[in-house]
Amino acid sequence: MTIEVDLPVPRRALAIGAHADDVEFGCGATLAKWADAGAHLTMCICTDGSKGTWEHDADLGALIASREDEQRDAAAILGVADVVFLRYVDGELESGLGPRAAVSRVIREHCPDVVLGHDPWQPYRIHQDHRHAGLLAAEGIVAARDPHFFPELGVAPHRPRTLLCFEPGRVTHVEDVEGYVDRKIDALLAHRSQWRSTMAIDDRPEDQRAAFARMLHDEARAAGLRAGLRAGEAFARLDDL
Ligand SMILES: [Zn+2]
Repeated sequence: MTIEVDLPVPRRALAIGAHADDVEFGCGATLAKWADAGAHLTMCICTDGSKGTWEHDADLGALIASREDEQRDAAAILGVADVVFLRYVDGELESGLGPRAAVSRVIREHCPDVVLGHDPWQPYRIHQDHRHAGLLAAEGIVAARDPHFFPELGVAPHRPRTLLCFEPGRVTHVEDVEGYVDRKIDALLAHRSQWRSTMAIDDRPEDQRAAFARMLHDEARAAGLRAGLRAGEAFARLDDL
């Protein structure tokens, strides 16, 4: 199967993740590269992150607030201009009409040429929020582009050009991210409340941070190899939306 390399830098792009930190894992280096090239970038986080801790007695109100602060810091590191929080309850995201209208409103208001989101068709995925967030990106595009979907939103339709699905079940596109992997790592490390649960940084932070960075560089190298690049981020690409 042919693998395409590098879209033209979009004028505007929108990355949709289920939780704070998902977008950085999936396409952080690509966003940093596009931001440096002058793209206007928006992130949309679907859930409130209220299940993102292993501490049984955590103050969930404080956790939600700190996860939003961390997300804004990560966005700033990448050069993302806007962050939209939809605040659905973590672990309970669904891809029904209500959330689809909310995502289609974000697409219509921010007018992206490219939308990036979880691959909802990735096999053997157990986290339902990731599957539903991926479906919301895909189905939100269908609703955003056609005028008879959700006319009550009162926002003009918008048709993005391309959908890039990250964590792809099938790789059809790679972005060259040589020189941008460290920005991705810095943005991920801004999610301090996730160090333990998603980055395995806990009781030996120095060593474990270094191991986490090595893992991200290894992943980028493996993705890049598919397309003869030194570092890449891999996607399933859908055009002609
Ligand atoms: Zn997630």
